[in-house]
Amino acid sequence: MQETKSDFVLPGDFIGTSEEFLPGSGTYEADGNVYAATVGTVQVNPKEKSVSILPRTDVPPIPKVGDIVIGRVSDIKGSIALVDIARIKGQEDREIATPEQGAIHISNVKNAYVRDLTYEFGYQDIVRAKVIDAKTLRLSTDGRDLGAIKAFCSKCTTALKRKDDKLECPKCKRMETRKIAEDYGSGTV
Ligand SMILES: [Zn+2]
Repeated sequence: MQETKSDFVLPGDFIGTSEEFLPGSGTYEADGNVYAATVGTVQVNPKEKSVSILPRTDVPPIPKVGDIVIGRVSDIKGSIALVDIARIKGQEDREIATPEQGAIHISNVKNAYVRDLTYEFGYQDIVRAKVIDAKTLRLSTDGRDLGAIKAFCSKCTTALKRKDDKLECPKCKRMETRKIAEDYGSGTV
């Protein structure tokens, strides 16, 4: 049985005495004490009375179908908006090791006909989307809680403020439309 303690440790952190624990992988022993040799979480094996460190960098999060991801619109090409995925919801503290690029097809924006993708998303917008195909990283923003959570004026790049179902630029007063999440602008990711 492997018991995972949530203790997050840095190299050199004291874990226990060598009377308590047998030093396992990612640890070292010095002067009768066991210390962490790597960044990670402490794992205790009560049967062996051993302790090891699960390195944090070993398991970068990989988006799965149904995961909610947060990303930035990096390009809009015809019927596709490309999104640089930065975070997976529920694992916000874990930066994705290699930035993954997802794609929102015009048919997956919302449960309604979309004529022009540029009415739904803008360059650099921060979007919350659901993974519908993990292999090709197809994303959907069809849902009340999905869509842009922060958007920027296409003229002056100021963050747009919500005004009813539209967005307004507080600086140049330009009105724009987006497929927005219902909590647009709340600061919640
Ligand atoms: Zn503006």
